Amino acid sequence: MPRLRIDLHTHSSVSDGTDRPEDLVRRAKEVGLDVVALTDHDTFDGWTAALAAGAETGVEVVPGAEISTDLRGHGVHLLAYLVDPGNPPLADELGRVRHDRRTRLARIAAALTSAGFPLDVADILARSPDAATVGRPHVADAMIAKGYVRDREEAFAWWLGQGRPGWAAKYAPPVDEAIHLVHAAGGVCVLAHPWGREGARRALTPSGIEALRDAGLDGIEVDHQDHDDASRRTLRRIAQDLDLVVTGSSDYHGTGKLDHELGVNTTAPEEWERLRSLAGGR
Ligand code: AMP
Ligand code: FE
Ligand code: FE
Ligand code: ZN
Repeated sequence: MPRLRIDLHTHSSVSDGTDRPEDLVRRAKEVGLDVVALTDHDTFDGWTAALAAGAETGVEVVPGAEISTDLRGHGVHLLAYLVDPGNPPLADELGRVRHDRRTRLARIAAALTSAGFPLDVADILARSPDAATVGRPHVADAMIAKGYVRDREEAFAWWLGQGRPGWAAKYAPPVDEAIHLVHAAGGVCVLAHPWGREGARRALTPSGIEALRDAGLDGIEVDHQDHDDASRRTLRRIAQDLDLVVTGSSDYHGTGKLDHELGVNTTAPEEWERLRSLAGGR
């Protein structure tokens, strides 16, 4: 029997991807994936459409989310899978994150306007009609629509990245608290792209990762486009030493992120099985 092809990290237009959830799942079928997780930022809103498309195409859809968290002032992304979406503490916390993301748009728009790029919140919301979770990628799209930048890459590099004129902080729960919320909601959590360009690489040293393991972290996303071969080798070793599950995924965003095609990295079936059984035990 051929080995299952499993991709555990993707984004739809419910957050900052460009495919609708159902189209993302159909595309997963086309590229030969057997299992795909939908992990929109800070929301479960795409699940129903994705699961329906999964039933229709035969692709196993894993319901998930990529939660924005904080580790001593550094942004850390935490992938959560198989949680109860109605669990009140978790749902309330994600609601708080999404609400602050909305108020952040006004701060970003004001900052960009002062930097010489007039923009208002309505311009940003016009670029994110399906999104439950709005973010900087939609601001980038609004800047593209105004002709200020060519693509999201340029918008982040010059205007929206941390320390740039259009950057603004947003609320995020402490990572250990988020791990606890995910577990209490019956799920498992995997540290997303720890050493990626957006990861808190400096805070996520081997001992920093060990502290998260002690707080209950279940796995590490090792194979990710932001990790070079040396990083992948080291992270795999750290995961082995700490007995953490190892995943590999695309972080697909449709046309919103280049070089992140569905299935470009995959997760070994045994590792996915470990995650599933950990969730089953909660
Ligand atoms: P936010 O969550 O609103 O702070 O925005 C962060 C999101 O922006 C992440 O999910 C990334 O996928 C996306 N992102 C970060 N850097 C880039 C980039 N250079 N090009 C496109 N998307 C990016
Ligand atoms: Fe994203
Ligand atoms: Fe991320
Ligand atoms: Zn992601």
